[in-house]
Amino acid sequence: MRKISIILILLASSINISCQNKNTDMEYNKLSSEEKRIIINKGTEAPFVGIYDTHYETGIYKCKQCNTPLFKSDNKFDAGCGWPAFDDAIKGAVKQIPDKDGVRTEIICANCGGHLGHVFVGEGFTPANTRHCVNSISLNFEPSEIQTKDTANYETAIFAAGCFWGVEHHLKLVPGVISTEVGYTGGKTSNPTYQDVCYTNTGHAEAVQVVFDPSKTSFKDLAKLFFEIHDPGQIDRQGPDVGNQYRSEVFYTNEKQKEITKQLIQILKQKGYKVVTRLTPADTFYPAEESHQDYYSKTGANPYCHFYKKKF
Ligand SMILES: [Zn+2]
Repeated sequence: MRKISIILILLASSINISCQNKNTDMEYNKLSSEEKRIIINKGTEAPFVGIYDTHYETGIYKCKQCNTPLFKSDNKFDAGCGWPAFDDAIKGAVKQIPDKDGVRTEIICANCGGHLGHVFVGEGFTPANTRHCVNSISLNFEPSEIQTKDTANYETAIFAAGCFWGVEHHLKLVPGVISTEVGYTGGKTSNPTYQDVCYTNTGHAEAVQVVFDPSKTSFKDLAKLFFEIHDPGQIDRQGPDVGNQYRSEVFYTNEKQKEITKQLIQILKQKGYKVVTRLTPADTFYPAEESHQDYYSKTGANPYCHFYKKKF
């Protein structure tokens, strides 16, 4: 009899607990303990491990707790910091509040109050000059159904402007850029290595191949940025890097790119800039070794020879 009473009491209290939970969690998704640590208790996930850190598909990032759409993939960029970065949020979806550290600005889901991360301004990563630094674990990605629709319309551009680490760093941040790859082109040696290009006369330039979505950015915008992140007046060098592999060159993949580049060179010359940039039809592009891809993202270092300067 006593045993049954205890069971009844336990049963009653467990029903009570589950009812309470149901009331609290009714509208929200159930969170794991790690998700609670970040989203409820305002924790931070370790850098470079979140599933959306280097995730670049087309779609929408929603609140893990309440499914509210928070960020669009169009606004995602690689800040190299180890967490997903967005230069804007969906209007009204994300609320900014002072962090309790008294320094930073915390961002939370405007609907459920779930912790997302922090927002930083004035870092100059993209024209919006804003970085919403978000924990992957606070988000759920929903791919767009038309994700692959435009793949066939992507365009390729190839730029050489000195050390390819810095050139890739700037170009990959442009919204609408689908992918970037550093490599060697414009020379005679097949399948060159970094050592070949540095120490022998391969004729290759260090270059960056950019695949972009012309509905979101344009060759003209990319070419302008190319001219604004290096000095096109230097012959066979760029800053501290000397050698013909560091020359300034556009390897155009169609006649339109050639014409646009010519026009931009003309504009720069009219503004008084010296331009020795070569204009050459694109030939075989040999991808560089993996250790050179996304160099600054991997190392967390900053470019030493490529800085943005407005020229147009
Ligand atoms: Zn939410």
